Amino acid sequence: MSALFPTYAKWEIQANSGNGAILKDQNHKEYLDFMAGIAVCNLGHCHPRVNEAVKKQLDKVWHVSNLFHIEAQEKVAQLLVEHSVGDYVFFTNSGAEANEAAIKLARKATGKHHIVTLKQSFHGRTLGTLAATGQEKVQEGFGPLLSSFSYVELNDEKALQQEVTEDTAAIMVEVIQGEGGVHLMDESFSEQLKAICHEKGCLLIVDEVQTGIGRTGTAFGYEQWNLSPDIFTLAKGLGNGFPVGAMVGKASLKEAFGTGSHGSTFGGNPLAMAAAEAVLQEVFLDETLAHVQDKGELLQNQLKEQLSPLGIVKDIRGKGLMIGIECTIEVADLLYACRKQGLLVLPAGAKVIRLLPPFVITNEQINQAVSMLAAVLKEADEKQSVNV
Ligand SMILES: *Cc1c(COP(=O)(O)O)cnc(C)c1O
Repeated sequence: MSALFPTYAKWEIQANSGNGAILKDQNHKEYLDFMAGIAVCNLGHCHPRVNEAVKKQLDKVWHVSNLFHIEAQEKVAQLLVEHSVGDYVFFTNSGAEANEAAIKLARKATGKHHIVTLKQSFHGRTLGTLAATGQEKVQEGFGPLLSSFSYVELNDEKALQQEVTEDTAAIMVEVIQGEGGVHLMDESFSEQLKAICHEKGCLLIVDEVQTGIGRTGTAFGYEQWNLSPDIFTLAKGLGNGFPVGAMVGKASLKEAFGTGSHGSTFGGNPLAMAAAEAVLQEVFLDETLAHVQDKGELLQNQLKEQLSPLGIVKDIRGKGLMIGIECTIEVADLLYACRKQGLLVLPAGAKVIRLLPPFVITNEQINQAVSMLAAVLKEADEKQSVNV
């Protein structure tokens, strides 16, 4: 008996407590958490530095209003622009809101409204970001959608060339499609993106809601594709579980977001900023990013070694600690079997298992997770070959 709208197919687990990469349920069963609240708790559950920062702020002041000067906002914005290609920041409460801000800013700054996004993308659930999302299953029943979006297949350079015109305000992309199946952008496609934005005079928006905040082994994913987005958006990992998002833009866009043009009651709230500041101080350390690269490589290599020989495993790909295992079969039952073993992993579409462990995972935890995955996938593989 639940009074909740059944928008989520709920799992059987209730999380009672968490520490680092370990989550404990209502029966004190321990799980290795390789989803981190969907790329949110990047520093692990109850990270001491973030907990301390929020606790400290909790006894000072919770909320004022964006009419006030909020020192922590200035600090977080400063940290973001110092470590990125952006110059100004607008704070939101979620990824969808950050993308809404990006879409609004792109329209206002260019005076145009056509935006090209990618098929299989995910940009959020608000009416604007729903239209930006190139997946019919997410849009179904909510029309008529905001018009003036068009979609091209990821890595289809010809389609991109055709779709972008002088009337295009922006191209909006993820460098790795998260929800869409852990699909990586080709280098030649990112080169073409740059060229086309330059040629047609349109803005480049990179949605870093999932790939940002160290997830792929660099502070932001776009760095590894040599992109310099006019706008990029953040949320998920920014507060390590405290709801907060951000839109970061280049200096040339400042005038378009002048006083009174956009706003948010809660965006940049002092508690959220306390969390975000602590997160960024930790994530921007060279050690942290090197750790993500090392552990990501180790995890991906072990997965390839142990899982690639299986017939049901089609591809293993990713960057840093964002990894997809594409299977030839639907993965819902496999995820359930993993949970039974004590491993929490996510799907990305019907046939991809998505791994998003927290950055604090150890080699031993990687070994454990890989052997649990191997056991589950081997069993499914044997069943599959019997069926054939
Ligand atoms: C999760 C996600 C969003 C939506 O973020 P919300 O905080 O749920 O609104 C947008 N873009 C990408 C790439 C995401 O992964």
